[in-house]
Amino acid sequence: MENAVVGDDVHGEDPTVNALQELVAGLLGMEAGLFVPSGTQSNLVALLTHCGRGDEALVGLAAHVARYEAGGASVLGGIVLHPLVQEVDGSMALDQVQSAIKPKDVHFAKTRLLCLENTWHGRPLALGYLRSIIELARKASLSLHLDGARIFNAAIALHMEARDLAAGFDSVSVCLSKGLGAPVGSVLCSSKPFIDEARRWRKMVGGGMRQAGVLAAAGRVAIEEQVERLAIDHENATRLAKGLRGIPGLVVEGAFTNMVFLHVPERAIAPLGESLARQGVLIDGSENPLRLVTHLDVDAAGIDRALQAFASYFVAERAGASKALN
Ligand SMILES: *Cc1c(COP(=O)(O)O)cnc(C)c1O
Repeated sequence: MENAVVGDDVHGEDPTVNALQELVAGLLGMEAGLFVPSGTQSNLVALLTHCGRGDEALVGLAAHVARYEAGGASVLGGIVLHPLVQEVDGSMALDQVQSAIKPKDVHFAKTRLLCLENTWHGRPLALGYLRSIIELARKASLSLHLDGARIFNAAIALHMEARDLAAGFDSVSVCLSKGLGAPVGSVLCSSKPFIDEARRWRKMVGGGMRQAGVLAAAGRVAIEEQVERLAIDHENATRLAKGLRGIPGLVVEGAFTNMVFLHVPERAIAPLGESLARQGVLIDGSENPLRLVTHLDVDAAGIDRALQAFASYFVAERAGASKALN
C-alpha cells in the first residue's frame, strides 16, 4: 500500500486500480471491472445499471441485496425488489421464479433482472441449480447479477475456477475484504459497456475515489496471495463444526466453506455470550442460529480455544440442569 503508484481514479488514471480491475475481471472471465468501496455499493451500482425506475429485480428473500442493504435499490433507484422464498441451500423453486416474471401489461412492473448469491450462507450453490436457473432467466430475457461476495470460497470448495461459476451472469460482484482480508473494497465485473455505465452510477452514489491505488494495492494482495489460503479457513471451519457436534444437545450446520451455524436454545444466548466473553471469545448473539465465520486472523489454535469455551459453558449448563432436577 505504501509503495502503490497512484493517480486520479475518478478520471480512470490510477494505474494500481486499473491493474486490479483487470486482474479480477480476468479471473471472472469478464471484460472489465470497477473498484468500489464496499460490496453493498457494488450490488447497488449493478442494480442501478441493470434496472431503471419501475423495473423489477427478482431476489432471494434472505439475500444480502434484499435484506442487508437498507433497501438502497428501491430508495435510490426506484427499483421494485420481488423477494422469493429460498431453501436452506439458497435455491429458489424454478416454477416460483417463472411465475414471478410479470407479463407485458401496464399493471405490472417490468421484470428485468434476477439476482443470485454465491456462496449462499457459506454454501456453494448447486451446479445443476445454477445451470437451470440461468437457462430459465435467459429464456425469459432477464439479466443476471451474481452477488459473488464470497465466490472464491465457492470456487476453492468445489475445486473450480471462479470464472466457471461466473459464467452465464451479466455482472458479478466480488468482495476483497471478508475472507480475503483486504481492509476495504469490492470489484464489480461485467462487459465494457456495462462498466462504463456503472462508473457513472458509482460517481453518483459517492463511490468515485481519487488516489484509490493505496486501497487497490491491498486488494491485489488479497487476490494474489489469499485465494488459495481460503482452503485453510475451510479446514478450520470443519474443525469447528466437528468440535461443536461433539457437544451434546447442539444443532450444527456446515461447514461447506468458512461458515458454521449453531442453533442455540434461545434462553442460552445471553448467558453463553457472557461466559464466552469471560474466556476471551466474543460472539454476536443478535441472530439465532449463531453464525461462526473463519478467516485469515483465525488459526486452528484459535478454533480449539473457542471450542474449549463453548464446551465449558454447555458442560456447566448441563451440570446445573441435572442439579436442578435432583
Ligand atoms: C459482505 C457481503 C456484502 C456486502 O459487502 P460490504 O462490503 O459489507 O458492503 C454483499 N453480499 C454478501 C453476500 C456479503 O457477504
